[in-house]
Amino acid sequence: MELRFLGAARQVTGSMYMLILDNGYKILVDCGMDYEMKKNPVAQAGIFDFEPVTLDLVLLTHAHIDHSGNLPALIHHGYKGHILCTPATAELTEYLLFDSANIQMNDYRRSLGRTKKTRRDQIPKPLFTEKNVKQTVDQFLTVPLHKEFVINPQVTVKFLEAGHLLGAASIEITVTENGKTTRVGFSGDLGRSNSKLVKNGEFFENADYLITESTYGGRKHTVTETAEDELLKYIQRTCVEFRGRLVIPAFSVGRTQAIVFTINQLKKKGLIPDWLKVFVDSPLAIKSTPVYERHPYLLNDEAQSFMKEHGSLFHFPGIEYLEGMDEHDELMSYFDPCIIISAAGMVEGGRIQEHVMNNIENPYSTILIAGFCSEGTLGHRLLLGQPTIKIKNKDKTVYAQIAKTDVYSSHPDHNEVLNYIRQTGNNSKLNGGKLKKVFLVHGETPQLEAMQKAVEAEEIATVCIPDMNEIYKL
Ligand SMILES: [Zn+2]
Repeated sequence: MELRFLGAARQVTGSMYMLILDNGYKILVDCGMDYEMKKNPVAQAGIFDFEPVTLDLVLLTHAHIDHSGNLPALIHHGYKGHILCTPATAELTEYLLFDSANIQMNDYRRSLGRTKKTRRDQIPKPLFTEKNVKQTVDQFLTVPLHKEFVINPQVTVKFLEAGHLLGAASIEITVTENGKTTRVGFSGDLGRSNSKLVKNGEFFENADYLITESTYGGRKHTVTETAEDELLKYIQRTCVEFRGRLVIPAFSVGRTQAIVFTINQLKKKGLIPDWLKVFVDSPLAIKSTPVYERHPYLLNDEAQSFMKEHGSLFHFPGIEYLEGMDEHDELMSYFDPCIIISAAGMVEGGRIQEHVMNNIENPYSTILIAGFCSEGTLGHRLLLGQPTIKIKNKDKTVYAQIAKTDVYSSHPDHNEVLNYIRQTGNNSKLNGGKLKKVFLVHGETPQLEAMQKAVEAEEIATVCIPDMNEIYKL
């Protein structure tokens, strides 16, 4: 069979890989939106280098848009088969895709309004519509973790816990052809050990080939405190000592729930004063938060026992979830000390940009960046520490504290990925086989090369860093 790399090759977004069996049977793993491509005005996401109608099966590791965001385009261009994923992934992906369709349509309408009639046909249309999302959701077929799912006499798939996001899975594909059985493991995005809410990830048993993320190859996470200690430090200083506002940009799915749960833990321990209000200003967070409590079996021991003891992970006196724009506007003129959690994480667009604007010139406020911000985003510019900053075409003087924490990072660092590869290699050796090859994806070239060096130094397996569109014979 052949393995073709259609995305996340020497970059972090646009995950998409294709396995092509000798008899022509085609399996696509993930179909993510390629943000790096989006920066290139010539290239357009949602256009495929293959005929979607010729695919036989699509597997989805998890809900994040850089893994799922081109599924509606795939369906729009003719894919009619099933999309296999875990039940929690199906629910979260549905909300994320509808949100993405909405954002694209709003952007498109805004651009139409700003452009002369004669030039309107040059504005790129949304990559997909709500109708395409509805069709995508109809094609989801959910499979639980750990169950071997026989697709046909030649192909079996199994989803394992990835520890990255609720429902996120690593996928093992077992292919039998020409009298030979080959196991290919796709890590998807991995998580850290002891993450908030989700369980630790699992290792493949018996993989012949491993395709793994290496987002933070060569890098080490710096925060060694627990999320509670780390967050409490900022809450104490900003909200209690300075009586100011703590503004936390966070993705609505995953990061927001981890932060809210941490605040709830601190509240239950009596470490945060009762008068301190917490606002979650994100309609998408309102939709996705209940998914966590609908799938308690996916939560780690800490979250499960908290839920048993206190009933809810995300609701407590003093927290308000804001859906409508009128509630958002009201919050913009709320000047008491409080915590504001809003999307998006990189402070690009969304309601958070207004909160940052509203607080950036206030020396009593802190803006706490809790996730990775790619170059060019407002989050990244804030972290550069410049004295003035342009937001929505207005120059603002930075008086607020700008802080950063990686305690909520949902990707493993160098040593954690290396250990993952090591474990996969060991498992294979123990069972009489050997991990033949590791393909490193989902990372910038320096990160992938750092990981390649480390894996080769330990002689775990041969390592390849595939380029976009490269094909390997397995
Ligand atoms: Zn992810």
